[in-house]
Amino acid sequence: MGITSVDLHKALKSYFGFDSFKGNQEAIILNLIEGNDSFVLMPTGGGKSLCYQLPALLLPGTAIVISPLIALMKNQVDAIRGFINNQEGIAHFLNSSLNKAQINEVRTDLLSGKTKLLYMAPESLTKEENIALLKQIKISFYAIDEAHCISEWGHDFRPEYRRIQDIVSDIGEAPIIALTATATPKVQSDIQKNLGMLDAKVFKSSFNRKNLYYEIREKSNPQKEIIKFIKQNKGKSGIIYCLSRKKVEELAEFLCVNGIKALPYHAGLDSTTRSKNQDMFLMEEVEVIVATIAFGMGIDKPDVRFVIHYDIPKSLEGYYQETGRAGRDGREGQCIAFYSYKDILKLEKFMQGKPISEQEIGKQLLLETVAYSESNQCRRKILLNYFGEDFPDENCGNCDNCLHPKKRFDGKEDMALIIELILSMKEQFKAEHLANILAGVSNSTIKSYNHHIHPMYGIGKDKGVKFWLAIIRQGLVLHLIDKDIEKYGLLFVTPEGKKFYENPTPLMLTEDREFAEYNDDDEDITNIGAKSGSSEGGDPVLMAMLKSERNKVAKQRGLPTWVVFGDPSLEDMSIQYPITIEELKNCQGVGEGKAKKFGEPFIKLISKYVEENEIDRPTDMVIKSVVNRSANKVYIIQNIDRKIPWEDILSSKDMTMDELLTEVESIVGSGTKLNINYHIRQVMDDEVIDDIYLYFKEEAGSDSLKDAMNELGSDYSEEEIRLVRIKFMSELGN
Ligand code: ADP
Ligand code: MG
Repeated sequence: MGITSVDLHKALKSYFGFDSFKGNQEAIILNLIEGNDSFVLMPTGGGKSLCYQLPALLLPGTAIVISPLIALMKNQVDAIRGFINNQEGIAHFLNSSLNKAQINEVRTDLLSGKTKLLYMAPESLTKEENIALLKQIKISFYAIDEAHCISEWGHDFRPEYRRIQDIVSDIGEAPIIALTATATPKVQSDIQKNLGMLDAKVFKSSFNRKNLYYEIREKSNPQKEIIKFIKQNKGKSGIIYCLSRKKVEELAEFLCVNGIKALPYHAGLDSTTRSKNQDMFLMEEVEVIVATIAFGMGIDKPDVRFVIHYDIPKSLEGYYQETGRAGRDGREGQCIAFYSYKDILKLEKFMQGKPISEQEIGKQLLLETVAYSESNQCRRKILLNYFGEDFPDENCGNCDNCLHPKKRFDGKEDMALIIELILSMKEQFKAEHLANILAGVSNSTIKSYNHHIHPMYGIGKDKGVKFWLAIIRQGLVLHLIDKDIEKYGLLFVTPEGKKFYENPTPLMLTEDREFAEYNDDDEDITNIGAKSGSSEGGDPVLMAMLKSERNKVAKQRGLPTWVVFGDPSLEDMSIQYPITIEELKNCQGVGEGKAKKFGEPFIKLISKYVEENEIDRPTDMVIKSVVNRSANKVYIIQNIDRKIPWEDILSSKDMTMDELLTEVESIVGSGTKLNINYHIRQVMDDEVIDDIYLYFKEEAGSDSLKDAMNELGSDYSEEEIRLVRIKFMSELGN
């Protein structure tokens, strides 16, 4: 072609303003210009786009860029036009968002030879009229961005990607450059086979992200830990990924209630809200975005300081891609994932009903996630190994397992046993089956192969299946054994493994972590606070002191004790140890009014108690639950404040009186003062009000409605009793 390295550098400077190429960029571009196929594996932010943009500008003809990210095409095209002094026609995109006139403009520019780069969504590429159009122009090369979408073993499979090769050969052959930021060896081979580019030159950059810290936590109280983490990392931007939209909404609200500026993002929100929330995150008007995996593709925020996986992801590819959004500027990036085996079972359940092959793949990917999560080995080592890369260091110094190493033991004999078994089975079985044999597990597969009478069956029974799976995983990471990616992961022994087997040497292995099988995560977030108040139990000594303080205060003020603070509130205090009014307000059932009215002696008492007993207060863990997630709540408070007739509230919100009373009770019960006198006066006589009021003030031993009904029910209706109880609680309690 006659384009030299000097030409490339000139073009790099003049079009893009960069002085030097990053990583492999130059070699990749030269390979493409020479007319060869190229396969580029480069982490996110590595500079893949330039690998096709620059040669597209230099080569005769039009480069076709296939990318699934329709939303980003416009940006990319605008950027290119900007580099080339706004020559509109130089770059175009063709996707479903264009109207007829716009499509015609693209056609004209293409046919006139103006256009150097044409971005297309895969589904537009498959359209007849587009194929016919492309047949009429000279194609310089095809770039397949996000090429992992070709493989069903990738984290983002798109069936249309499978048709690319056929269409390309229909339109006319030209060199192909495929690019991706995540590809396991299996996905890599799928891509090359599917695009018919098995002899492409492969350019693989290291995927190691040194600055990222990886940690897996047991998912026992994730909400609380997340609040704690964010409060310890105040002012930093972060993303929290959840698997369901519902969880996204709940968690975002929960964070807001706890004083953290957070917004939700998921595909169920309308596009205006989505882009507004995204912008607010980019502009740092909110600290945290809680999102499904719909968020993040193409987001270029360099200073995301943490990525939290509230739910364990479906595959390590997805996990790596999502964690990769932290610390793109090379600075701090903390990646924390919450793991519970129960979530894995949930994910397996979601796969039910899908085609069997898809289920098999999904299960295999999940298994890798489980292995990663439960492992005690260096996380970086496992991740890089998963993507076909070696990480030679013993200790990466930047993951939970390396910073807090777990017990190690000499696993020489165990490893040798595994290798012997694999060899004796002629390398025809997968990990679980082999582990089951050694652990002496009896199931139908084992029996169907007659492996329950295999000489090694049950030889390692005392150690259990999990242990043997862990040994196998470490054997994989150490390259003593390997997986046949073509055959659903059948294990075979590598030459190093054979050498080791013939002459075993000491081999330090780590024990796997034990994760609790059970957690309460399904509990509604709304109940968490109440739960921690009642079932977890606080400090019993302090609790007793708080109760007697409550008696004192009630007596002084001539109020029933339960009006001052309910038991759940006191219990919460004995857990959270609030020592300021601000902190006290975070306790269950304590609103602004209650805290100011009754709080002082309580925080004094707690403060003294904390000091005398040298208690480590969980100050940064004071958590307030979303007491009532009803969207009507705010509406009701506002309307009652404005003295709107209750009939109007009922009809505009389509509620029953019972529902409205329940809402109002919950509002008042959580400590908000609400003046409902305008309504009560309208529906009840003064004597009735006074009579019920007096009952609560003088006679009632608690706020129990049942007791009140027993006592007063023959004279007054339930609605009347409830209304006065609300008035009473609000006036005296809040
Ligand atoms: P990827 O697609 O690999 O995630 P991009 O192509 O979006 O990465 O590039 C990431 C960033 O790196 C962009 O901001 C881009 O302008 C920048 N970049 C690319 N090549 C160079 C270079 N040679 N020198 C400096 N910056 C570059
Ligand atoms: Mg890219």
